[in-house]
Amino acid sequence: MSRNEFDLIADHFSGIGSRREDVALGIGDDAALLNPPRGQHLVATTDTLVAGIHFPDNAPPESVGHKALAVNLSDLAAMGAEPAWATLSLTLPEVDDHWLAAFARGFGDLARYHQVALVGGDLCRGPLSVTVQALGSVPPGKALRRSRATVGDAIIVSGTLGDAALGLKLWQQPTVPASEEVAWLVGRLHRPVPRVSLGLELRALATACIDLSDGLAADLGHILAGSRVAAVVNVDRLPLSGPGRRFGGGRSHWRTALTGGDDYELCFTVPRRRLHVVDAVASRVGVRLTRVGTIQPGVGLSLVHGDNTPVRVSRPGYRHFQDS
Ligand code: ADP
Ligand code: MG
Repeated sequence: MSRNEFDLIADHFSGIGSRREDVALGIGDDAALLNPPRGQHLVATTDTLVAGIHFPDNAPPESVGHKALAVNLSDLAAMGAEPAWATLSLTLPEVDDHWLAAFARGFGDLARYHQVALVGGDLCRGPLSVTVQALGSVPPGKALRRSRATVGDAIIVSGTLGDAALGLKLWQQPTVPASEEVAWLVGRLHRPVPRVSLGLELRALATACIDLSDGLAADLGHILAGSRVAAVVNVDRLPLSGPGRRFGGGRSHWRTALTGGDDYELCFTVPRRRLHVVDAVASRVGVRLTRVGTIQPGVGLSLVHGDNTPVRVSRPGYRHFQDS
């Protein structure tokens, strides 16, 4: 990048995030040197956010910094991994110190909260995009995979669904009057909360787990395909937030909850005999956990209402997950 690349890194990125004993060499050389916990798997994931595609062009920079790390920590959470380190590659159309300072604040606050050290990265010029790699660890045999859901397991989701998709709609309609509830929904889009401590608890409980980036129907579909099973989901049990219900058309908000992306909640399966533990886990991690369905033999996802009547699928878009 320009000749002041080093100043920019020194000004904005050196020292954000946590200091960790296991970083033998951090930012400043050609690469970082890290000491993974002895005998554990190193868990690696990366995600790119492109302006105009993964976040609105006018999203607040602090939120972009938060979200770029959060979506990666969410992937670690879905593996049951404990986060430790991250790298950050930033492509910027121009150098804007205010933007960079706010971005670094959003990234750094979340990194410190989860004791993640920023150990390297890259800066270059181009259309705005952010790539983060997150690294963590998990004991062998304890990682949460997509492939181990078993017939009879309960399907559980964390938090509430459909908020982020609704938040995006509201963010795109500047005529909607500002209110606390609108701000909360938009916050669910811009500042997702990675369920890291839930993921750690699930190591001892879940048979399969995935984080919800593309919507429950699509992402649960990956567990079903990976585990070679089917599922029935009760759409009237999908956890909806108060603001979601009020701005999303009442009970019919379940459609958004099922297909809306960007919630970054966890969806996981639990054997029936372990279900009694779920409430205790929910209160330990302070996150609502809701049973929404059951794993069945066969292929695909079927949807029912609370009284067990099948959901009539009127829109062709719903077909694709019936047999995926
Ligand atoms: P190189 O040209 O050898 O790849 P760079 O000049 O890109 O090195 O980076 C110098 C140092 O600063 C490296 O340790 C790199 O990891 C770090 N770094 C570069 N950009 C960032 C960033 N956005 N955030 C954190 N560290 C960064
Ligand atoms: Mg470089």
